[in-house]
Amino acid sequence: MTDLIRKLYETQTLEKDELISLLNCSADDAEELRRLAEQRRIESYGRDIFIRGLIEFTNICRQDCYYCGIRKSNKNCERYRLSGEEILACCDEGYDLGFRTFVLQGGEDGYFTDEKICGLIESIKKAHPDCALTLSIGEKSRESYKRFFDCGADRYLLRHETADKEHFSKLHPEGQSFENRMRCLYDLKDIGYQVGCGFMVGSPYQTDECLAKDLLFIKKFNPQMIGIGPFIRHKDTKFKDFPDGTLEMTLRLLSIIRLMLPKVLLPATTALATIDPRGREKGILAGANVVMPNLSPVRFRKAYSLYDNKVCTGEESAECKNCLSRRIESIGCRIAVSRGDSLNTGNR
Ligand code: SAM
Repeated sequence: MTDLIRKLYETQTLEKDELISLLNCSADDAEELRRLAEQRRIESYGRDIFIRGLIEFTNICRQDCYYCGIRKSNKNCERYRLSGEEILACCDEGYDLGFRTFVLQGGEDGYFTDEKICGLIESIKKAHPDCALTLSIGEKSRESYKRFFDCGADRYLLRHETADKEHFSKLHPEGQSFENRMRCLYDLKDIGYQVGCGFMVGSPYQTDECLAKDLLFIKKFNPQMIGIGPFIRHKDTKFKDFPDGTLEMTLRLLSIIRLMLPKVLLPATTALATIDPRGREKGILAGANVVMPNLSPVRFRKAYSLYDNKVCTGEESAECKNCLSRRIESIGCRIAVSRGDSLNTGNR
C-alpha cells in the first residue's frame, strides 16, 4: 500500500482500482496518507487557513433531492428568506470580523429572479469591492450564470453530488438529471468562474467504485474548489434510516484529493464538524485549508437544516469566528484575512 501512496504523491493520480484499494487501506496507511497530504497543503498554502462567510439566505427550494432537509416536499421545514438589507448586514458584520469572501447559498428559490440576484451581487460588490463573492444557488441556465458573472460574481459552488449516473438517479427524483448537473458545471467553468464541485461521503447507495469515479472526475474537471462532507441523515427525508457517512472515510478522501490536486481549495465542512467535535481540525490536518463559518442571522440558522444536529446554529458570528480562530491556532495554523483565491488556475 505504501507504494500506492508514494505513486499518488509523485504522480498526482491513480487508476480506478488503485483508488479503491487506497480507500480501504489500513489505519497505519491512512496516517501516512494524512501526513503527506498535510505536507502538500503546507507546501501549497503554508499555514494559512482561508475563511468564507456563509450566508444561507433562503431555504425555499424547488428541487426535491432525497437526502436534503430543505427539499421541496418536506412539509415540516419552516421556510424563510432574508431580505436584501439583511444579506448586506451579514456581509458588513462579516467584513468587520475579517471575512473577505462571502458565499451566498440557498435553495432554488424562484423569488430570487436573475434581476434580484444581480442586484444583490452589485450591492455587495459596491459595499465591499475588495471581497470575493461566491454563489451557491443551484442549477440555472447558462445565460443566468453569465449574467451573474458579468455583474461581478467571482466563484460558484455546485457539488456534482456523484459522478455515477445511476447513483445520481437514486439520490434525486426523475426531473433532476445527471446531465444537467454536469452541463451546469462545464458552463460555469467555461464562463470563467472559479468553480467548486463535490459530493457527500457515505451517501445512500454509494459504493467504493462511485467514490473512485468521483475522484477521477474531479481530477479531470480540475476545479478550483472541492466541497466534500459526510452524508448525515435528516429525519424528514426518505433517507432518514440510512447510516451517516464516517469521519475516517471523509478524512481519507480529503487527503487523497489534496494529493491529487495540491493547489485546490478544500473546506473542512460543517457536516464534518457535526459528526465529530474536532471534525474541522481533523479535516485541516488531513489536507483541508478552508473553513466556512455561518454569518446568517442566528434566528434563521436552525431552519437551514440540511441534516440533523447541525453544529454552530446558536452562536453569533463573532463568537463563531473567535471559536474557530482558537481551534485553528490549536493545530499550528492561522486564519488569513484575504480573499483566498485558489492557486489552481484550472483551465480558465
Ligand atoms: N441549492 C444549492 C445546490 O444545489 O447546490 C445549494 C444548497 S445545497 C443544500 C448544498 C449542499 O448540501 C448539497 O450540494 C449537498 O451535497 C449538501 N447536503 C444536502 N443534504 C445533505 C445531507 N443530508 N447531509 C450532508 N450534506 C447534505
